[in-house]
Amino acid sequence: MVGDGLWLIRGADAPIARDNGGAIANIALIATDAGPVLIDAGPSLRYGEALQALAKTLTGKPVARVYLTHLHPDHSYGDAAFAPAIVAATPGLIATLTRDGPGFADGMYRLLGDWMRGTELRIPAHVVSSPQEVVGGRTFRMLPLSGHSADDLAILDEATGTLVAGDLVFHDRAPSTPHADLSTWRRSLDTLKGLGHRAPAIGSTGSTPRCAGR
Ligand SMILES: [Zn+2]
Repeated sequence: MVGDGLWLIRGADAPIARDNGGAIANIALIATDAGPVLIDAGPSLRYGEALQALAKTLTGKPVARVYLTHLHPDHSYGDAAFAPAIVAATPGLIATLTRDGPGFADGMYRLLGDWMRGTELRIPAHVVSSPQEVVGGRTFRMLPLSGHSADDLAILDEATGTLVAGDLVFHDRAPSTPHADLSTWRRSLDTLKGLGHRAPAIGSTGSTPRCAGR
């Protein structure tokens, strides 16, 4: 637990590979009265199901909402375990996942083999369109940015002041850049810096590139 009702499920500090099953993204799990909120869903159906089980164990309730921060499959493909109605993303990300998301499957199956069995990316049906969302009495500030990819969603948990920055923030490691626009990314980091969030940001940590862009 890294904050009040907030857990970090840490990914491996390594590239996507068979020995880690692609579980390299950091996932945030946040308790609310309506059930826990996940920020990102991991790489596969199997991982998404494990998250669902963990969420139930930690909070006693099934997952109420899953926010996807960006298109990369180590963050998004685990949404296969959840009903599309509770999976949320910005309109830009929904359009990109609809167009390009299925194309990532071949590469993920090639890298991960059996880990990916049954995984089928779900297109989010909950559209993030306002500056904040309230789930079970807990307020989340929505920060649609870009730079690491064309559509990056950072989320501020107002209750703890914790910023969940997806792959916009890499700590002690080389950022992954297959879909990056570096000048836009710098502007987004300035925006995040200006938030004055209280708790440490949850982003990507480690020393090697983590995100599979293709
Ligand atoms: Zn990424």
